[in-house]
Amino acid sequence: MDTDIFESHESEVMSYARSFPVVFDQAKGSYLYDETGAEYIDFLAGAGTLNYGHNNPILKEKLLEYIQRDGIVHGLDMHTTAKREFMDAFYEVILKPRDMDHVMQFTGPTGTNAVEAALKIARNIKGRHNIIAFTNGFHGVSLGALAATGNSHHRGVAGVTLSGVNRMPYDGYLGDAFDTTEYLDKVLGDSSSGVDFPAAVIVETVQGEGGINAASFDWLRNLEKVCRKHDMLLILDDIQAGCGRTGSFFSFDDVGINPDIITLSKSLSGYGLPFAMVLLKPELDQWKPGEHNGTFRGHNLAFVTAAAALNHYWRDDNFAKEVQKKADIITERFRDIARSYDDHWFYLNGRGMMQGLVCRDGELAEEITKACFKRKLVIETSGADDQVIKTLCPLTISEEDLDRAMDILKDSVSEVMTDRVKRSEAHSVG
Ligand SMILES: *Cc1c(COP(=O)(O)O)cnc(C)c1O
Repeated sequence: MDTDIFESHESEVMSYARSFPVVFDQAKGSYLYDETGAEYIDFLAGAGTLNYGHNNPILKEKLLEYIQRDGIVHGLDMHTTAKREFMDAFYEVILKPRDMDHVMQFTGPTGTNAVEAALKIARNIKGRHNIIAFTNGFHGVSLGALAATGNSHHRGVAGVTLSGVNRMPYDGYLGDAFDTTEYLDKVLGDSSSGVDFPAAVIVETVQGEGGINAASFDWLRNLEKVCRKHDMLLILDDIQAGCGRTGSFFSFDDVGINPDIITLSKSLSGYGLPFAMVLLKPELDQWKPGEHNGTFRGHNLAFVTAAAALNHYWRDDNFAKEVQKKADIITERFRDIARSYDDHWFYLNGRGMMQGLVCRDGELAEEITKACFKRKLVIETSGADDQVIKTLCPLTISEEDLDRAMDILKDSVSEVMTDRVKRSEAHSVG
């Protein structure tokens, strides 16, 4: 596989390519194929962008049909048939059954674009600059969103002061016994706490890049209460945890909260096409025409595949049930691994099909994911020290393939752990 041009001419900024240094050529469902035809199971799946698998045939058929009939590809934000069909589907399938009357704002096509829009409108509506974000939160790397992102690796290259955000401890950050929303409530009620009165809180229900930390439903409900009490907007960043990843379309569906602003991207198009959207409660839709624009707001090819995904997967709860079943398999298999090592080296976190096998350190996680890749399983880590091995496989994966991947993971863990024991024995003898 010829990688010369990447080495000579691609920016050093590349990241995933370093973990998986082959040249991928084709993909189908839960599988990636490199140029030599070798087959890999994909547990990274575009970092949660391919919830319905690679080149999903149902979505592909609609897309090809649309391209074939010269359907509008780029239409700025003009009305198009494709947009209407997406909006109709999103309203009928997602919003209406939930009694949600949010309006849809199409932003530039990446997650960080949606976050920028959400923060901007929240600040303008409330007339306050400050936003509350959480430890280990990830919201993107453009400057506004980056200010809300916790990771110092990303923050460190901002080049300017990242301002307008105060950091608060996420659920569990100070141990299970402590509800960190009480701390937030306390500082907001204290005129001398040093925290400027915020416009909004931005939060993930499960922190994807931050280590697959899942907030408890109680914590999320308490967070909403604090928002209401202190007149702050609740922005729910569902870019990674949404679109079915946790077992329901929105990750907060079963929580019993009603976020003011919701950001969606990653798996929204369903096909890996760039697409992002902000949902705003109608009274918050205070934009003036063109005030926040962008050339690629709502891409028509993405509208086509997104509508197809909604119509096919979300009109009843069969798909959600299937996701839940596979989530249980993942939990069981992870628990099995953790137990085999006396729950000393590993523990589990996450929710639905967004689960993590948390390793004692980042080095261990890296050794394991490398061993997985040798066995042709593409799987990544996340978290502050990259200590969490995360499952983000397509939700459409077959149980057979899921088992296969879990077998590979188990074997890889076993290889690495055996190696560790040998090394520590050699060390103690030496
Ligand atoms: C990936 C992600 C973003 C940023 O999306 P990009 O498309 O990479 O800009 C924002 N928030 C969350 C929760 C994400 O997972």
